[in-house]
Amino acid sequence: MRDTYGLIGVGIGVFNLSLAALLEENGYRDAIFFDRQPEMTWHGGLLLESSELQVHYLKDLVTPVDPTSRFSFLNYLSRRGVLYQFLNRRGGAVSRTQFQHYFRWVADSLPSTRFGSTVEETRFDGEMFRVRVDGEEYRSRHLAVATGPRPAVPDCARPHLGDRVFHAHDYRHHRENLRDARIAVIGGGQSGAEVVLDIMESLPHRRLAWYGRRPAFSQLEDNSFINDLYAPSFVQGFREAPEARRRELLHRLAMSSDGITQHLVDDIYRLAFERTFFSAHQHDYDFRAGQELVALRPADGGGYELTVRSWMDDRLRTETADAVVLATGFEPSTWEHLHAVLGKEALYEKEGNLPVGPDFQVQWRHQDTNSIFVQNGSRLCVGLADPNLSIAAWRAAMIANSVLGREVYNPNPDTPLVRFA
Ligand SMILES: Cc1cc2nc3c(=O)[nH]c(=O)nc-3n(C[C@H](O)[C@H](O)[C@H](O)COP(=O)(O)OP(=O)(O)OC[C@H]3O[C@@H](n4cnc5c(N)ncnc54)[C@H](O)[C@@H]3O)c2cc1C
Repeated sequence: MRDTYGLIGVGIGVFNLSLAALLEENGYRDAIFFDRQPEMTWHGGLLLESSELQVHYLKDLVTPVDPTSRFSFLNYLSRRGVLYQFLNRRGGAVSRTQFQHYFRWVADSLPSTRFGSTVEETRFDGEMFRVRVDGEEYRSRHLAVATGPRPAVPDCARPHLGDRVFHAHDYRHHRENLRDARIAVIGGGQSGAEVVLDIMESLPHRRLAWYGRRPAFSQLEDNSFINDLYAPSFVQGFREAPEARRRELLHRLAMSSDGITQHLVDDIYRLAFERTFFSAHQHDYDFRAGQELVALRPADGGGYELTVRSWMDDRLRTETADAVVLATGFEPSTWEHLHAVLGKEALYEKEGNLPVGPDFQVQWRHQDTNSIFVQNGSRLCVGLADPNLSIAAWRAAMIANSVLGREVYNPNPDTPLVRFA
């Protein structure tokens, strides 16, 4: 393995995998991508049998920018000899597990990916980036940072993290410890709902509490017009808007990304109704919306005592549970990797929202010679689509254009039917 590259990728999640695939497609062999996981894994702790892809399956790593690419989901199915069965199966949704297999197939076929490799430090020496990976130093002219979301844990829960109090991101790894426990799931978004349904369907449980902070267990706002917010043309327009408007839009349209898919929330309700009123077995479900977890401590008789504040009347209530699953969301982790490089020079420090340019480069002092590409770390700049698969291929294509030094991919690939300005 060489020690100097044109581009080093930090993290091989969905977004850098797309970039790696597009660079490979164009014969660019001067890149290397590192990931600390032993193999390509897409949020493995939440990869449940019932988990479904929340975007159209053609919004894969490459198809939206190059439907002829060999790294497409359809080519993966075809190479595995299951495309006919994929087409014959009824029911529209594609499972996240299918995409996990597809991602792994792409990752395994790329010469530029290195798994089981933790990036420990990234510095800049005035000419090149110096990236320390498991004690070895590599140099590169450019950086592509896509280290994904990091579980967000409420402060009050942090001291108790372990086998019985854990973030939903680790749910599958701890699921067996939850058998017959009184379980509290904190968080009323998609992850919380997926965990709740999984517990109801697959685990014997004596009591299940589900507390969401929003005033209701709300569904994903999803229609064809809303989907245009997740298209390249919208992202391009969004970045031009005044910051206050961008913030407002992120807030007002948050449910287009943060809500629960309609059929999932309906499935939970239907099952709870059936079991609560018509089952011979005793089920105790305590579902409460508008509840914020404000304190957590070990309970005297074992388990944990949770203090929750009700949004409706501000009253504090205490509940007990044997185990607590924190489906309390995610926050970007990109910052950790750039702090040593950017120091105080960067034009950021606004709630983790790096300003990135049209080709997703950080605006910094040496950007004319050394590019830092960031994916999924700048919601205020990119919009609601920043963490979403919808723009993954296009964003990676814009980065690939920059790295390749020519416009291989069309920067304006869509023609919106709805205008926002
Ligand atoms: C459970 C879940 C389901 C989702 N489902 C959908 C969906 O259906 N549709 C959709 O559009 N979006 C979905 N999203 C949102 C988004 O698509 C994913 O979060 C996506 O994985 C983000 O890609 P990423 O490359 O930014 O991060 P990730 O896929 O999280 O990848 C980041 C990678 O960086 C690596 N890494 C981090 N630090 C280091 C380091 N120091 N050294 C080496 N490697 C490092 C990690 O190991 C990881 O593999 C989902 C998100 C979650 C959490």
